[in-house]
Amino acid sequence: MNDAVRLRKTLEGVPAYKPGKPAAPVEGVTAYKISSNENPNPPLPSVLAVVAEAAESMNRYPDMAVTRLTSALAERFEVPTTHIATGTGSVGVLAQLINITCEPGDEVIYAWRSFEAYPIVVALAGATSVQVPLDADAAHDLPAMAAAVTDRTRLILVCTPNNPTGPHVTDAALRQFLESVPHDVLVVVDEAYLEFNTAADAPDALAIYREFPNVAVLRTFSKAYGLAGLRVGYAIAREEVATALRKAATPFGVSDLAERAAVASLEAYDELEVRVKALVDERERVLTVLREQGWPVPDTEANFVWLPLGEDTLDFAAACQERGLTVRPFPGEGVRVSIGETEANTRLIEVAGEFRNR
Ligand SMILES: *Cc1c(COP(=O)(O)O)cnc(C)c1O
Repeated sequence: MNDAVRLRKTLEGVPAYKPGKPAAPVEGVTAYKISSNENPNPPLPSVLAVVAEAAESMNRYPDMAVTRLTSALAERFEVPTTHIATGTGSVGVLAQLINITCEPGDEVIYAWRSFEAYPIVVALAGATSVQVPLDADAAHDLPAMAAAVTDRTRLILVCTPNNPTGPHVTDAALRQFLESVPHDVLVVVDEAYLEFNTAADAPDALAIYREFPNVAVLRTFSKAYGLAGLRVGYAIAREEVATALRKAATPFGVSDLAERAAVASLEAYDELEVRVKALVDERERVLTVLREQGWPVPDTEANFVWLPLGEDTLDFAAACQERGLTVRPFPGEGVRVSIGETEANTRLIEVAGEFRNR
């Protein structure tokens, strides 16, 4: 008798998420984890204080409507509160976005390679991934994505800047794309790295959401705001979409700690912005030197760089690990390296230079 419990068949097609590994200690050097695009700065004292205070009431459920954060976001971005939906990180909101749009077998289009969570959340919902290869510059091929739309397409994910390769989608290209796809297909602009994007032609996603009713803007407190461990993200979209997202949310998913930290971080953004600018400067330094060393690094507007190493990917990751740097290898394709502490970035440059001259 087969007594195994019956699990959904769909699960067999769900890839496992490979988290960035923790930094591994190496004799005599400080180890750095530059594999998960985290903010290397510790929380602001003002944010820590708010979280410590909130911890005193963790015997209580949080506010299920996430009222304070929703109001703070509405005020900051000048959008109605009814257009905002929060969730357990933007990955949580992403799962909600798929759940509100896709029946089993419906299609979700996104570029590939892109964010690793995409195939997982799509498959878990029983929907079908349609992956459109990046172009020769490791950027989204928006015309090819538009051409991939079928009657079954319910959602399109545009990741700008793209994780893990770095290039952004321009405002003009995104608008042209939106003109060319059916207006009943929801287009999600995943702006996890928005704050690091200094390109003059970066999309104004909020202006675009105001013009195109089928756009949802997805954002997070995990990267520039430095709250990855607290799990809070949000979407800004038309009321029908935002209301559906709230229905699909995990009840009480956003903790009181996360909500208060997010509100305090919005208030302290001037202070955080200084840190973001410093990371952008470091990114430019790393990018320039790597290119001088001869690496064909694609443009990046995020807090990471992409080294297209192909078959050498795992060797390079091992060379980094020997020097105390934990990076993110994608076997056979390349390595993504987060911009971290200045010493980590400098060491990365050294290892990369040595690797090229090996
Ligand atoms: C890091 C990242 C997120 C944010 O995930 P959270 O769940 O908010 O921590 C979303 N999208 C992309 C493309 C990312 O790289």
